[in-house]
Amino acid sequence: MCVERKVRFEERGSFSVSDLSRTSLWGPGFPALLLVLGFWLSLVFLAGGVGFPLAASAQSAAQERTFVVVVFDGFPPAYVDGFPTPGLDRMAKQGVSARAMDPAFPTVSLSGGVTLSTGCWPENHGVISNLFMDPERGLYDHSSDADWLIGCEHLHQAAERQGVPTAALGWYGRYSATRGALASQGPPGEKNFFDFPDDAGRLGQLVDFIEQPPESRPRLILAYFKGPDKAGHTYGLEADETRQAVMEADAIVVALLDAIEAQPDGAQIQLLVTTDHGMKPVEELVNIQRILRRQEIPARAVSAGTSSFLYFDDPSEAVLSEAVRKLSAYDAFEVVRRDAQPEDWHIGTGPRVGELILSARPPYFIEDAEAWPVWVRWLAYVGPDLLPSGAVLSATHGYPTGTPGIEGILYVRGDAFAPGREIDRVRAVDVHPTVLHVLGLEPGKPVDGVVDSRWLR
Ligand SMILES: [Zn+2]
Repeated sequence: MCVERKVRFEERGSFSVSDLSRTSLWGPGFPALLLVLGFWLSLVFLAGGVGFPLAASAQSAAQERTFVVVVFDGFPPAYVDGFPTPGLDRMAKQGVSARAMDPAFPTVSLSGGVTLSTGCWPENHGVISNLFMDPERGLYDHSSDADWLIGCEHLHQAAERQGVPTAALGWYGRYSATRGALASQGPPGEKNFFDFPDDAGRLGQLVDFIEQPPESRPRLILAYFKGPDKAGHTYGLEADETRQAVMEADAIVVALLDAIEAQPDGAQIQLLVTTDHGMKPVEELVNIQRILRRQEIPARAVSAGTSSFLYFDDPSEAVLSEAVRKLSAYDAFEVVRRDAQPEDWHIGTGPRVGELILSARPPYFIEDAEAWPVWVRWLAYVGPDLLPSGAVLSATHGYPTGTPGIEGILYVRGDAFAPGREIDRVRAVDVHPTVLHVLGLEPGKPVDGVVDSRWLR
């Protein structure tokens, strides 16, 4: 609508200007000229209220905004239903809340977080799981190095490219091994996913940025929090320890809202709180190395969460079809060929994806023995195919998008967003373009997500 009005105004304006240019300024037509000029000026004035300057003011409103994006690791909507969350409830009143945010497959931290940050599916950004093999670089293992991207831009990269300073606190891809820091501000170090301070330390860093005067504050501030992920894994979705972790995360939301509302431009500070994935109870652990040995399948398994990539030295059809035949006998997981994946997986068919993919069915979990405590790793050689998970793991994530329980939370407030609006489902890929749109910026190049206009005021 604004664009249409702008065009109309420009058409009227150009008519008046060209008309004036053909008129002798001080000749007998001068009174008529004044009329034309008056008419033209009044058009400018009237249009000023509703037309072209509205587009300009929308752009300048966007330029006055700050956007704070917060990710809590492992936060399903079930926690909001089950535990007190006054901070998130306050956000829901102030802005938009989603019943479910669909993360990308596999629903684990690094592929989930990089999808949020780039607005691309894993097949296009390249971080297809927490662990995978790259034929040239070798094993990827939870790295935050932006050089692992095969395409797309992180939020901070796209904003910095457009001249907007950003701060990235423990954020995905905040540094590059070859190019250095990619966000102009943020704590040095923290090169690895596990190098973060505790969440209280992170909150302090974030509030320091929010309390800067608008002129010097980075306009896009990104922060990762460990959140309730570990408590959910260890104790399950309903435990007191998980309740405690959820309440601590919610207290961070309260502190952020208090800090934002105390600023002179508090309404212009947008806050988005989301997660990389949800959480779901598990009961049995798939002893994948033992299964490969027992079945004499010549593949290397690289597993994270509930999916496992199988890489074959000899990926001939005979070898693959024999492996598919043997592995299909297990109910614990689905066996999928790299070139025959479900359409909504979006991890692509590049060389980082194993020739076969095992995707666990709930309540099973797949993990490589190297990730187990040293004193039980022998089970990969002589143990059973399946182990009860209870002693080490109560809940997990990684199942395909759309699996009930694997969805996450999403809340967003600020002057750009509709107050009190509840939306059923939103997508992780749409976070990046929507955040940048609200700041008046273009999305990264390329991008798979779209601006989710349902969030906007
Ligand atoms: Zn986790």
